[in-house]
Amino acid sequence: MIGQRHCPFCRVPSAQECSHLALAFEARDFVRGCVQKCAGERSWRTLCALRLAQRRRSGEWSPEVEDFTWLESAFCEEFLKPLRWFGAIDYEWRTGPKPGEGGFWVLLWTRSPQRLWWELRDHFEREIQELQEAELNPPAARARAANGSAAPGLSFY
Ligand SMILES: [Zn+2]
Repeated sequence: MIGQRHCPFCRVPSAQECSHLALAFEARDFVRGCVQKCAGERSWRTLCALRLAQRRRSGEWSPEVEDFTWLESAFCEEFLKPLRWFGAIDYEWRTGPKPGEGGFWVLLWTRSPQRLWWELRDHFEREIQELQEAELNPPAARARAANGSAAPGLSFY
């Protein structure tokens, strides 16, 4: 292993897999790994579908798959860094059993992996709720509602 990382919390080398290492996956499997670890596969599929529908409606849609669905850095920015239990992310080059099988591994650190995974699943579910509400109330209606509630108890007419 080249450039082995150490846990930012207890300084143990990553190969020893201390209790702060939530996940160590090859970069290309990282997003799927996070979704599996938090047992959020169903929420994740719903969330991706809702986001896609939203982009189509807003006219931003392009045939490319969105980065956050497969690129670990984009996923991390959008879904992991906002979490209270997110610790840090590290990259490590690991060699495979045969020449040419090496690859970049992503290490996800946190004080409490279990809490991080719960928080991530909650985050998916909260965003689904927001997107579904937005779908039921198009922006124009929401803006009117917001204006109406800006001054509770006051009437301008
Ligand atoms: Zn540690």
